[in-house]
Amino acid sequence: MRPSYLKLSRNEFERRIEKLYQILENCELCPRKCHVNRLKNEKGYCGAGKELMVSSYFPHFGEEDVLVGRNGSGTIFLTWCNLRCVYCQNYEISNLGEGAAITEEQCADMMISLQRNGCHNINFVTPTHYTPHLVKAIAIAAEKKLRIPIVWNCSGYENVEVIKLLKGIVDIYMPDFKYGNSEYAKRYSNAPDYFERCKESIIEMHRQVGDLKIRNGIAYKGLLVRHLVLPNNIANSEKVLEFIAKIYKNTYVNIMSQYRPSGEACRYPEINRRISEDEFKYVVDVAKKFGLSINKKSIA
Ligand code: SF4
Repeated sequence: MRPSYLKLSRNEFERRIEKLYQILENCELCPRKCHVNRLKNEKGYCGAGKELMVSSYFPHFGEEDVLVGRNGSGTIFLTWCNLRCVYCQNYEISNLGEGAAITEEQCADMMISLQRNGCHNINFVTPTHYTPHLVKAIAIAAEKKLRIPIVWNCSGYENVEVIKLLKGIVDIYMPDFKYGNSEYAKRYSNAPDYFERCKESIIEMHRQVGDLKIRNGIAYKGLLVRHLVLPNNIANSEKVLEFIAKIYKNTYVNIMSQYRPSGEACRYPEINRRISEDEFKYVVDVAKKFGLSINKKSIA
């Protein structure tokens, strides 16, 4: 299947890139709306400035089966994060800024190199705060004959107006859906409006790409939602899954059990442990009750 960005005209690509860089000037790329001038290297909540920063890139075999296939998902880890959860498992990258500045041209070369390695997609991890750079890099890579789908692997804390600008560029949206209530979203991610922003973004993502489509075991388009089970049901999983089931019964949901306390989690006793089997089973049962199509591998 031809990735959607190959159908976008050069003029339309340029229009989107220009619009996105304008947003960077008074940054509203995410719901934090810091209004800093990132083009002057001013930094907002996420910590990112003018330049695109990458921590690492490689064929990743630990992602969902439908992304990994035989040759891996071509993962590019971006530095910094607009959500910055206290328990982040990539704390050094998201909160401490581990990584190096690169140009959009270099990013395009990374994408081409991952494609050459046989990767089935380009998987941008935590891309939100670099949306303008990445769209520009995709446009450059398309001219260099990039032909694999783009995966937008984001936190779910998105500005829906920015997501609209990705229509026809992103093939697979893979947002986290972390919390179903504002109290915990505030406490652990300083984002009391997370539930609302995530819901409206997921609606827009689904409008653009629909349910996940898979051919020969590999996803090529659609929405894949991730939900990380947290200790003591802090994620309020029922609310999250109820929303997904109510709106899109066939949405592909990966319920993840791999939470482990990282970053600053030791300062919060209630999340300073792994989840129990019962906690995980409870969330899986809730998903089943709502009739969701869940990733079976994560249950084992
Ligand atoms: S992307 Fe960063 S600077 Fe821009 S609004 Fe979000 S947190 Fe603030």
